Amino acid sequence: MTTQVKHYIDGEFTLGQGERVITVTNPANNQPIAQVRCASDDEVHGAIASAKAAFQSWKEVPVSERARVMLRYQALLKEHHDELATILAKETGKTFEDAKGDVWRGIEVAEHACNIASLLMGETVENVARKIDTYSYTQPLGVCAGITPFNFPAMIPLWMFPLAIACGNTFVLKPSEQDPMTPQRLAELFEQAGAPKGVLQLVHGDKSAVDILLTHPDIKAISFVGSVGVGQYVYKTGTDNLKRVQAFAGAKNHCVIMPDANKQQVINNLVGASVGAAGQRCMAISVAVFVGAAKEWIPELKEALAKVRPGLWDDKDAGYGPLISPAAKERVLKLIAQGKAEGAECLLDGSDFTVAGYESGNWVGPTMFDKVTTDMSIYKEEIFGPVLCCMEVDELEEAIELVNKSPYGNGTSIFTASGAAARKYQHEIEVGQVGINVPIPVPLPFFSFTGWKGSFYGDQHAYGKQAVRFFTETKTITCRWFEDDIPHGPNMTIALR
Ligand code: NAD
Repeated sequence: MTTQVKHYIDGEFTLGQGERVITVTNPANNQPIAQVRCASDDEVHGAIASAKAAFQSWKEVPVSERARVMLRYQALLKEHHDELATILAKETGKTFEDAKGDVWRGIEVAEHACNIASLLMGETVENVARKIDTYSYTQPLGVCAGITPFNFPAMIPLWMFPLAIACGNTFVLKPSEQDPMTPQRLAELFEQAGAPKGVLQLVHGDKSAVDILLTHPDIKAISFVGSVGVGQYVYKTGTDNLKRVQAFAGAKNHCVIMPDANKQQVINNLVGASVGAAGQRCMAISVAVFVGAAKEWIPELKEALAKVRPGLWDDKDAGYGPLISPAAKERVLKLIAQGKAEGAECLLDGSDFTVAGYESGNWVGPTMFDKVTTDMSIYKEEIFGPVLCCMEVDELEEAIELVNKSPYGNGTSIFTASGAAARKYQHEIEVGQVGINVPIPVPLPFFSFTGWKGSFYGDQHAYGKQAVRFFTETKTITCRWFEDDIPHGPNMTIALR
């Protein structure tokens, strides 16, 4: 019997009743591993109604009790860490080590949510006018929703619902339909942590479920992570329906390599950052920009990339796994072919790669292009595969100009031994997350995940203090207690006195 993935609606784990049935497959051979029947429209509406009802009591639960739910949750996530990573690895094809990283980076956000009382603290100023004080509170919004992508099925849902719920909101999660089993397990553990019925809802589905969330009057805020086109659609539709929206979208991340950097460190870091997770990371390095004599390292980088061998999730020697779906593989192969046709020099071609016994899997071997130019499709499009594009420039200024012209601004890094070059780069670069000798600078949860430009639509970013602002309203109170008689007659002005 195929595993049936469950929804979590109104405190019950149930099978969906929608018409569409999606088969979850093992990306290593495309064999079915589970099925998910999408939620019907009525079920999505029911989840929102249940979350709305739960909000009335959840918002009154003392903040320290809400924090205790998070304390129990992060402990349970740690206890079930390897089990979660196994589920995740099987449905995404990620290597076990990489799957553990996905779970762990999510747990770090759940840990951060335990500190919610401090994060929610408002501001106070005494005596803003004579005997008048002003202070502010942060209060939850109501029902919030999250729409998440396939590539981090643990981390990205955990970016969202623990903090939103710790703030006092209730939450409807619509995870990717391509790997829904990990989110189901996250929801089961959340219930086990003692979260009251209705506080978290999990609905599986596709565009039709998303559209209900984007237009429903009881959804107050939408947190989205996914591709550029869908991100723009979610942002426009959500804001058109007068909701608060944060939409994290696609990327094209550059790494600038200065000739004074440590060659071996550059090569080691570039290999992992470009083809790790089969390049299916929004912070993957997809463009390496070699400055001056650093270009002489390209042949050695190619040798190092050629040694990376994709494989099964439980193969300890595998560098990365398959792409998520046949459609994803087809897209990547098409872009590789376009790269060749448009004149880039293909130094390493993983188009024909396969794993013995798993020939029907979505494999693409490490691929590397040199002499890439900004007009080529492989430069303009997010490939989301194990493909590194190399470019060569003469000066740091030229590299900065190149990166700043990119429509994306998720992440970037520079490898150098020069503090002056690093300082110039961090200051002048128009990208929201910068690594200095760190290839994938994803901040820990006490900071926020701050993509810029076409990689993010909205203003308050994910996790950290910005997420707390996103998931709350600020209420500012101006207060006077009369000690004696009213000081003067009517105040006909706006000034406080
Ligand atoms: P996707 O846009 O296809 O799907 C994301 C979510 O949107 C899923 O839940 C999906 O069901 C839903 N969806 C898909 N099509 C829709 C439509 N037409 N209308 C409404 N909803 C729709 O993204 P994906 O392929 O799952 O994930 C990969 C993408 O996510 C990449 O572009 C990657 O860069 C991006 N990503 C960005 C970040 C970031 O922080 N900026 C992080 C991770 C992934």
